[in-house]
Amino acid sequence: MIRTSCHCGAVGFEIETAPSEVTDCNCSICRRYGVLWAYYSPTLVRRVEGGPTETYEWNNHAIAFHRCRACGCVTHWSSNDPTRDRMGINARLMEPDVLAAARVRRLDGAVSERYVD
Ligand SMILES: [Zn+2]
Repeated sequence: MIRTSCHCGAVGFEIETAPSEVTDCNCSICRRYGVLWAYYSPTLVRRVEGGPTETYEWNNHAIAFHRCRACGCVTHWSSNDPTRDRMGINARLMEPDVLAAARVRRLDGAVSERYVD
């Protein structure tokens, strides 16, 4: 079991398993956020600190990017399709040793949507 927390602690998750890999995506939004995504089924993720988030959507509005309303950390993205069994957790909000143990994969989300490592 691992935990994530934004800087102020208002938004946090408990997750069943540490990520074996995280994704560094170069698309227009991810490169600006500077996040590393760990993808999970929402059924494996539990919101333990339920502070308010603000969201941002663009393009086809398929997913919403959440940030803590107090400290501004990007915490996760959620799908606007409730049947989609996938969400993204910002692995930068995990403990450093958890993140250090994960392989960082480079995703060319800007062009090919393929991993390029
Ligand atoms: Zn916060």
